[in-house]
Amino acid sequence: MTAKTVLVSGASIAGPSAAYWLHRHGYRVTVVETAPELRPGGQAVDFRGEQVKLLRAMGVLDDIRRHETAMGDQTVLGLDTRPALTVPGAAWSGEVEILRGDLARILYDHTKDYTEYVFGDRVTSLTETADGVEVTFRRGAPRKFDLVVGADGVHSGVRAAAFGPEEDFRHDLGFGIAGFTAPNHLGLDHTSVMYNEPGRGLTVGSHRLPDKLHVALVFAADGVEFRRRGADEQRALVAQLFADTGWETPRLLQALPAADDLYVDSISQIHLDRWSTGRVVLLGDAAWCAGPGGSGTGLAMMGAQVLAGELAAAGGDHVTAFAKYEQRLLKPATVGQKNGKGSGNFLAPRTAAKIRSRNRAYKMISTRLFGRVFSWMTDRAANALEYREYPALTAA
Ligand SMILES: Cc1cc2nc3c(=O)[nH]c(=O)nc-3n(C[C@H](O)[C@H](O)[C@H](O)COP(=O)(O)OP(=O)(O)OC[C@H]3O[C@@H](n4cnc5c(N)ncnc54)[C@H](O)[C@@H]3O)c2cc1C
Repeated sequence: MTAKTVLVSGASIAGPSAAYWLHRHGYRVTVVETAPELRPGGQAVDFRGEQVKLLRAMGVLDDIRRHETAMGDQTVLGLDTRPALTVPGAAWSGEVEILRGDLARILYDHTKDYTEYVFGDRVTSLTETADGVEVTFRRGAPRKFDLVVGADGVHSGVRAAAFGPEEDFRHDLGFGIAGFTAPNHLGLDHTSVMYNEPGRGLTVGSHRLPDKLHVALVFAADGVEFRRRGADEQRALVAQLFADTGWETPRLLQALPAADDLYVDSISQIHLDRWSTGRVVLLGDAAWCAGPGGSGTGLAMMGAQVLAGELAAAGGDHVTAFAKYEQRLLKPATVGQKNGKGSGNFLAPRTAAKIRSRNRAYKMISTRLFGRVFSWMTDRAANALEYREYPALTAA
């Protein structure tokens, strides 16, 4: 009997994770990615508890450890640009931390031998028939698949084709996020520095690659239009938003024109009543994007394991499997969205008074007692979904 086929849209974190688990349960997977190649960039993502069990089960934990940031303490500057407090690295970095781009590369490398990856293309329409989904692409010839997984992020094309326009599901939280790499002119070594002015936050850090400084910007974004901007327009937007910001900002912005890993987006959440319709199912940010601090990367990977596992457990019956997948993911996705909701206000408080009170709260995290409470909260989000093995049934 021939193996069932799955089209996965998106080759970042959720997509290659789905390819891994679906293949393990006997599916033949094609991944289509709109970018011409694997996208670099993005900030560090951390894993703890149940999620580390998943990394071990996927056989990627050793590779991740080889690329881990091993980040030390963070210095938070006051409005006068002098150090105001120090936050222990362990507060944010979990059991293991890695840059999003490095993780995407590892997941791709682990799956490329048995997965058909198609870069530079995207789905344009999905038509469900009695025995599959007919898919048309922007470039490639039409094809038919048994199932389609939308793992294409907050601006998912599969979601638009199967559920409706993005505006119906996207909730902007009033902030934007940007990230790029600059030369490490500050000489930071496994440490990071955070600086704020009202409505603007910069975090710069250096870890594995001593010459590089990873710059993360969060900013109040009322009325900012993020969509339909090319790379140069994105650079211009970031330069304009941070033009009159002090501290090291002018020097950091000098690196923008040469940055080939710039990432800019609104901080948004995705809310849908359900994550599947017929033979089409959503995974990761396409389904439940929470924004920074929402444990989105770990949950996208955990979700891929549950999705493929439930399909196998149901003997390929997608109706039963998708319902069970939704049941298991609902609570952890809700916890992530709750945690992610305040990220903009925390990282870029809108007034000087709010920056000072955020710093006071932040200072508490560095005390032993509150540090434990903070760890408990972050661990709770990461452990909201228990790692459970599924029987290795094949889908054919
Ligand atoms: C380059 C990059 C940098 C990021 N940086 C940060 C960051 O600094 N902070 C943060 O909180 N989150 C960031 N994220 C989001 C973060 O990766 C996700 O929140 C999380 O890891 C869940 O991943 P995901 O695979 O569900 O979605 P994403 O990581 O968003 O991946 C979606 C993938 O689908 C592709 N895609 C989009 N539309 C289509 C389409 N129509 N057809 C085919 N493919 C499509 C995208 O190019 C991307 O590769 C970044 C994402 C990317 C792609």
